[in-house]
Amino acid sequence: MIETDVRKLFTLEDGVQIERHVRVIDNSFVFTDHKGRLVSKKKKITTELTKHVVTELIGEEALPIIFYLRGKKQISEFIIAEELDMEIHLVRNLLYRLLEFNIVSFIRKKDRIKGWYICYWDLNEHMIPYLAEKIRLSAIAKLKERLEREQNHDFYMCRSACVRMPFEKSMEFKFKCPECGELMHEQDNTRTREFIKEQLRELEKKKGLC
Ligand SMILES: [Zn+2]
Repeated sequence: MIETDVRKLFTLEDGVQIERHVRVIDNSFVFTDHKGRLVSKKKKITTELTKHVVTELIGEEALPIIFYLRGKKQISEFIIAEELDMEIHLVRNLLYRLLEFNIVSFIRKKDRIKGWYICYWDLNEHMIPYLAEKIRLSAIAKLKERLEREQNHDFYMCRSACVRMPFEKSMEFKFKCPECGELMHEQDNTRTREFIKEQLRELEKKKGLC
């Protein structure tokens, strides 16, 4: 049984910093506070969660590597390329992109016969719940920013909906659409605001689940 405690400071896109601690026991994880006390229920690092995180951060094309490395230790990049029938350059490129998020790590060993260095890769599954939480919080921050913008501005649009702009900007254009020249009118953004709020509620509900 491997037990790891990880502590990490996340920086979100808007500069907000949050601290999340996670403890990984086998293939499950819990979020903890700074003293290591549990603050969430034990959850599995599921295939679905892994897919979500890797697809969001790197892209679907990295998934075969992730699932190939799962349950294995120190696999050479040449073996990965061979087993997955992928170009070594593509495999390396994806591994380096995964490395940026610490989803994988490597050690370099000198090949005794050939005399060159080969990288052997490991999957860091404990990063998955962290990154999932980071993605969630960053999405929340972005939505809140959008909602604030929708609440603090009146938006103007022509009938063909070529462009949408706040009042101040549409004044610069004398309320004439810069695309088609038609007059722009104030747009009721109630539905947009409701839609953002709904998305926010969905994301808030996922607290501790991902
Ligand atoms: Zn227009």
